[in-house]
Amino acid sequence: MAEKHFKYVILGGGVAAGYAAREFVKLGLNPGELAIISKESVAPYERPALSKGYLFPQDVHNLSFAKLTIYSMVLQDYQGFMSVLAVAEKDCFQNGMLRKDITFMAGIELMLGTEIVKADLASKTLTSAADVIIKYDILIIATGSTVIRLSDFGVQGADANNIFYLREIDDADKLVAAIHAKKDGKAVIVGGGYIGLELGAALKINNLDVTMVYPEPWCMPRLFTAGIAAFYEGYYANKGIKIIKGTVAVGFDSDANGDVTAVKLKDGRVLEADIVVVGVGGRPLITLFKGQVEEEKGGIKTDGFFKTSIPDVYAVGDVATFPLKLYNEQRRVEHVDHARKSAEQAVKAIKAAEEGKPIEEYDYLPYFYSRSFDLSWQFYGDNVGDTILFGDNDPTSAKPKFGTYWIKEGKVVGVFLESGSPEENKSIAKVAKLQPPVQDPEQLEKEGLAFASKI
Ligand SMILES: Cc1cc2nc3c(=O)[nH]c(=O)nc-3n(C[C@H](O)[C@H](O)[C@H](O)COP(=O)(O)OP(=O)(O)OC[C@H]3O[C@@H](n4cnc5c(N)ncnc54)[C@H](O)[C@@H]3O)c2cc1C
Repeated sequence: MAEKHFKYVILGGGVAAGYAAREFVKLGLNPGELAIISKESVAPYERPALSKGYLFPQDVHNLSFAKLTIYSMVLQDYQGFMSVLAVAEKDCFQNGMLRKDITFMAGIELMLGTEIVKADLASKTLTSAADVIIKYDILIIATGSTVIRLSDFGVQGADANNIFYLREIDDADKLVAAIHAKKDGKAVIVGGGYIGLELGAALKINNLDVTMVYPEPWCMPRLFTAGIAAFYEGYYANKGIKIIKGTVAVGFDSDANGDVTAVKLKDGRVLEADIVVVGVGGRPLITLFKGQVEEEKGGIKTDGFFKTSIPDVYAVGDVATFPLKLYNEQRRVEHVDHARKSAEQAVKAIKAAEEGKPIEEYDYLPYFYSRSFDLSWQFYGDNVGDTILFGDNDPTSAKPKFGTYWIKEGKVVGVFLESGSPEENKSIAKVAKLQPPVQDPEQLEKEGLAFASKI
């Protein structure tokens, strides 16, 4: 049985892994000290691009996957990388900007296509599916999330061909192949969250006839208010996307080849389909560590340095349930901004501990965003309490711009903004962080974005 030993091991090869690796290099890493173990066959990359630029129709697959790679971060050209990153998701498949030679990664062992099937935290040992033993001094768990599948609930016919889920590059590649094979065909999107909305747009841009189905009264109900959702639903309808709410997919028909042909809805309707994309949520991948490490709220419990209850074991990104200082509670956050920042914090903490230096605890302001068609929204803070909608949220406007404030106990605690400029987005982030008091909600509604700009 092959055995390897590393000072640092990052288990998982996604967003958090890439940012952790970059931070290690930044703070000083000797060759051979770090291994990244990933069951994906490619280097860490910016996962959000999979539901955006990666699916755009400009023959994207002629450009190599390397454009997505965040190894370019480890070039130690931080400023250069950040400017590339800023445009990466929009443009990465339309030009060669991120195409990089990754040989500079020499010194970091990339164990790709390697699935860890056993983790023994007591003996600091990981075992791969191919029976390779990997020992570590310090482990960073960055296994992220996996999708919830309709077949998990025994939905009839859910194993038919051309029913897709989107989490990894392989999923996106299969979807792109189906988009080409089913040119101008019919697509049904099951789910009205992030993935549903972004995929609905991406498939429409690819000229498919798109119908979205979700059980809730409006899309993205975990974040959007009815007022916010009405804009996106109207906008999507104007783009020709049909939306069916208040029902769920209960079965699928397929042809003799096993290809999906129709989606059966609970309300009795049957929708023709050449492609189905399901986005009904995810769950953190922590089963490897069950019973070995303290858990909370469905994730691995950490402190403000992403240390778990087991010495020398850190957890970052989607799997970590960490102290969210601003709200004085433990939270798990499944968003890319936190994946990046938690990874950097964990590596800073590891390095500081080695040098006997203190660092500040993680002080995170929740930040989520999404893009589809020409739209782009950002949200900062907490979506709790009363809401005030402001601005132009008419989906037929040439340049809609609107937002929402969430007010709890007389203070603004969360802000959403569609089509904000970089300065405006900065100002709503500041509001969410500073939580200014609101004396007069009517005045706030009148002021709208101007309120944030004054803070
Ligand atoms: C299509 C899509 C679009 C998204 N868009 C947005 C967005 O617009 N905005 C936003 O804020 N967030 C978005 N997200 C969420 C964001 O990408 C995640 O929160 C982020 O990727 C989490 O980073 P992570 O490193 O914790 O996990 P991941 O990036 O998922 O990486 C986990 C890695 O661990 C590997 N792994 C897991 N188990 C094992 C094992 N046993 N052995 C070996 N390897 C293993 C996986 O293969 C994967 O490579 C999106 C997610 C998806 C899937």
